[in-house]
Amino acid sequence: MTNDAGNFFFGSSEIVQRLKENSIEPFFERFLFKKNFAFNNKNSLEYSSYAFNSALRRLTPNKLKYILVIPTLRCDLSCTYCQVSRASIKAKSFDWCDETVDRFIDFVNEYADTELKIEFQGGEPTLRLDLIKKIVDEVSKIRPSSTFIICTNLQNYSKELKNILHNKNVQISTSLDGSKKLHTQNRTKKMTSTEKFFTNLREVIKDIGHHRVSALPTISDFDQIMDVIKTYHSMGLNEVFLRPVNYQGFARKKHKESKNDVEKWIKAYCKAIDYIIEHNETEDQKIIETNLAIHLRRIFHPGQNGYVDLRSPNPVAQDYLVINYDGSFYPTDEARMLTRIGLIDLRIGSIKDGMDLEKINSLNQAQDNKNDKACKNCALQPFCGVDIIDKISRYQTVDYPTEKTYFCQFHMAVFTKIFDLFSKGDIRFLKTASLHLGGTYALSPALAGFNCD
Ligand code: SF4
Repeated sequence: MTNDAGNFFFGSSEIVQRLKENSIEPFFERFLFKKNFAFNNKNSLEYSSYAFNSALRRLTPNKLKYILVIPTLRCDLSCTYCQVSRASIKAKSFDWCDETVDRFIDFVNEYADTELKIEFQGGEPTLRLDLIKKIVDEVSKIRPSSTFIICTNLQNYSKELKNILHNKNVQISTSLDGSKKLHTQNRTKKMTSTEKFFTNLREVIKDIGHHRVSALPTISDFDQIMDVIKTYHSMGLNEVFLRPVNYQGFARKKHKESKNDVEKWIKAYCKAIDYIIEHNETEDQKIIETNLAIHLRRIFHPGQNGYVDLRSPNPVAQDYLVINYDGSFYPTDEARMLTRIGLIDLRIGSIKDGMDLEKINSLNQAQDNKNDKACKNCALQPFCGVDIIDKISRYQTVDYPTEKTYFCQFHMAVFTKIFDLFSKGDIRFLKTASLHLGGTYALSPALAGFNCD
C-alpha cells in the first residue's frame, strides 16, 4: 500500500477488502494515522507531512543543472550497438564550430544553475580536446562549482587529456563491456585495441583515482552478466550500471531482439542483484549497482528528482538538455538518436535560435504519470517515472498502453523485487540497500524497521 507521499506498508488483500467496507479495527486505524495514510483534518501535522512529501516527490529543478554536449559526432570505433549512429573519423561538418562554443558560454551564463554538470558525449569527444578545454576553462570562470564528465572510449590517453584532468572537477566515464573477449567482440574488433583500452583505463585510474573514473557496460549477452560484474570487481571499480543494449541507432538493425526482450532482461537483472547481495556479504570490496541505487533513492529520498530516465513529472528542457554537434537542442540523448535515424524530429530548438517552446509544451503534456491510465491505478506511481521518448522509439506513438511497455515492465519488476526483499526483511539485503543509499555497508537506522532477524 502506498500513498502520494511515498509512504508504504505491506498488507494482505483482506486489508484492502476491509478498507473498502470501512470495517477496520481501531488498532489498524491508529496504524494508518501513524503511517500518514489517514488524517483528522488538513491542519494536522500528519497532513502537513503528507502534503510536503507529496509535493517534494513532484518537484523538479527549474534551472539547467545538467547539459549533455556533443562536440563531435565522429568516432574512431564502430560498436555494434552504437546508439547515435556515429560519423566516421574523417567525416566533415560533424563538429562544433567556434561560434557554437561562444554561444554556448553565453547560454550557460544566462540559463544554467550554479551547480552545473556538463557531460561531453559523442561520437568520441576526445577527438576535440581543444573544444573541451575551452568549455571547461570558460564555464569554470562563470560557474566555478561546475563539474565535467568526459565520456571516452579511452583508445587514446593523450598528454592533452591528462592536462585537462589536472582540473579536479573533471571526471572520466568510459564503456567497459566485461571480459577482454567480450569487449573486443562488441566494441574494438581487435584485441590490440582492447589491450590498449585496458592499459589506458588502469593508467587513468592510477592518475586520478577510482572516485573520478566510472565505467558502464552494455550487456549484449545476458548469460554473461556475472562475468561483467566480476570484471568490474577485478578492476577495482565498485559501481556497475547494468544496462541492456538500448534499442537505438545502429542497435535497431544489429540487435533487433533488444526491442522486446524485457522478460529475459528482468530475469538476468534480478539474478545479478541476488549475486551482488551475496557478494557484498562476503567480500571486503563491495559492489553498488546503479539501477538499484536509483530505484532505492526514488523510494527513500523524496526530492531527488534529477534522474530524467525515472521521474515524474519529467519536464523537457527544464533542468536537463542535450546539445548536438550542430548546436541543435534535444530533450534527451535518445531523442537525438531518434531524430538522427529519421524516425521523428525531436529537435526542440538550437543554440542559435533558442528553445522551441511550442514543441516543448506539447511533449510535456505526456510527461507526467499522473495523467496515465495505468499509472493512476498502480501502487508504484509515487516512485516511478515516465519516458515518452522510449515509447516513441519502441512503439512509434505516445498512446501505446503503458502497462505493455518495456519501461513499465522493467521498472515494475525492479520495484517489486525491492519491495519483496524489504517485506522479507533479510539483513543481507538491508545492508546492501543501506550501502546503495548511504555508502556504508551497515544497517542504516532508516531501514532498521524492516529487519526480521
Ligand atoms: S510501474 Fe508501470 S503502471 Fe506503475 S507507475 Fe510505473 S509505468 Fe506506471
